[in-house]
Amino acid sequence: MNTSKPSAESKEPAEPRPNFIRDIMVEDLKAKKYGDAVLQTRFPPEPNGYLHIGHAKAICLDFGLADEFGGRTNLRFDDTNPEKEETEYVDSIMADVKWLGFHWEGLFYASDYFDQLYQWALQLIRAGKAFVCDLSADEVRRTRGTLTEPGQNSPYRDRPVEENLNLFERMRAGEFPDGARTLRAKIDMSSPNMNMRDPVMYRIVHASHHRTGDQWCIYPTYDYAHGQSDSIERVTHSMCTLEFADHQPLYRWYIEQLGIFPSQQIEFDRLNLTYTLLSKRKLLQLVNEKRVSGWDDPRMPTLCGIRRRGYTPEAIRNFCAAVGVSRTNGTTDIAMLEHFVREDLNRRAPRAMAVLRPLKLVIDNYPEGQSEEFEAQVNPEDPAAGTRQVPFSRVLYIEQEDFREEPPKGFFRLSPGREVRLRAGYFVTCSSVVKNAKGEISEVHCTYDPATRGGNNPPDGRKVKATLHWVSAAHAVEAEVRLYDKLFTKPDPNQVEEGQDFTANLNPDSLEVLTGCKLEPSLAAATAGARYQFERLGYFCVDSDSRPGKLVFNRTVALKDTWAKIQKAGS
Ligand code: ATP
Ligand code: MG
Repeated sequence: MNTSKPSAESKEPAEPRPNFIRDIMVEDLKAKKYGDAVLQTRFPPEPNGYLHIGHAKAICLDFGLADEFGGRTNLRFDDTNPEKEETEYVDSIMADVKWLGFHWEGLFYASDYFDQLYQWALQLIRAGKAFVCDLSADEVRRTRGTLTEPGQNSPYRDRPVEENLNLFERMRAGEFPDGARTLRAKIDMSSPNMNMRDPVMYRIVHASHHRTGDQWCIYPTYDYAHGQSDSIERVTHSMCTLEFADHQPLYRWYIEQLGIFPSQQIEFDRLNLTYTLLSKRKLLQLVNEKRVSGWDDPRMPTLCGIRRRGYTPEAIRNFCAAVGVSRTNGTTDIAMLEHFVREDLNRRAPRAMAVLRPLKLVIDNYPEGQSEEFEAQVNPEDPAAGTRQVPFSRVLYIEQEDFREEPPKGFFRLSPGREVRLRAGYFVTCSSVVKNAKGEISEVHCTYDPATRGGNNPPDGRKVKATLHWVSAAHAVEAEVRLYDKLFTKPDPNQVEEGQDFTANLNPDSLEVLTGCKLEPSLAAATAGARYQFERLGYFCVDSDSRPGKLVFNRTVALKDTWAKIQKAGS
């Protein structure tokens, strides 16, 4: 059985896939829209959680497209919300971007711009474009109107400039409690776009900020900070997800009123994946409620989680390139992501034999105390990887599921009287079984044919229908193996009965821990992060919990490629 076939659609496209953002860039460069300046992008995470695979899509666009055109990308932390942000997240985000294989030109924080943003707020007040409003957050919400009704002007909207300047400076000086006043842009309370209805620019929050400490007690909103930060960095193309499309007029309004560098916002579709969630808030809930072992639990869609599970940055980048971008949101089958992981690991992962649920196989006609070594390829996809030695002896382990005392129709693996091939070993024929007191099969006895050494067909041309993997009992190293399944039972985990939340859809069987697994001895020295194909089983990676003599492996992904099948069926 050949388990390592490269899939038919594994070729990377020679031409870049169609991408409307790339088209915009090509046009802008051609028209010299930004003169001779190189293209500038940014990736703007809020440091309030760990990055997930959805962010990887944004990162691949921001960094990937800039790279393609010889441009630059900044990493900018959108740290305008002092209460939810932590240095731990900043560090993890930098590690994840590097791991994906990208490097940033400038490393910035929106908080670097607090002074400039404040000066610009004064400028807007002086121009009669912003005012201090004494309405509470609740009152602001209530007077905003609805999609069908205009909002009402704030009674404070026409405050004289001097009074606005005075109050805003006192807001900054800490004279007022949280929520007492806001600074709002003066735009249009009857705009059909709710974002244009005198949006809040600054709110009072007496909280320490992870970088500016207690220097500020007023903080800019995302909308007021984002476009101006882009402009300060002379970002030419500011990509963000579609939910910001309605914010674009406001993004432009601030830049136009201030007369500053005209960054342009371009929206693309968010990545959604079946059977998982891409929302930091919900992932944080899973961590806080201890539904998972942490942000890096290998079942999590976080970059640190899938890295620990064994996914490669190349696989993630190939996946992101293949999902592409669009102007409407959709959901991507998680099988597609797994397909790209398999495809990449097939190319690079050394092969090894491992038995996860061992059943003893004794070869009665093989001399006791004798052993020999067989040569096996490290990776048939990569001949340069060479060969490895696999020891063989009289007592082996095979997979429990590879033996049936009474084989059902279509079962071609080992059963009494049946001959099979031991991969790279010999042909063996089952002669009898031994059962324990409970009636369970504890040993399978076989005879081997010395003429089939190396697993080759015998001179008489006899064929067998199955090839099994195995591990020599005397040489085996033991390991714990963690098998992962989908984190949620429903394709859309948010689909719940009334009164429930998404945790109701958590898959109770998403983790199965096997102990006493038997591995070929070449794996004894495997170190955390190393990835292998366990023949016939899947791709596995050494977990960070692994210690010499106490190996722990994660199943990255099983071999069966459901996505390739879906593709084939559709073609
Ligand atoms: P979440 O909802 O998970 O908190 P977010 O959008 O609030 O995500 P940010 O830290 O603000 O997270 O995101 C940084 C960048 O990544 C933004 O440009 C955002 O649009 C993009 N991004 C976030 N989630 C996705 C996703 N699922 N698909 C594509 N891009 C995403
Ligand atoms: Mg956000």
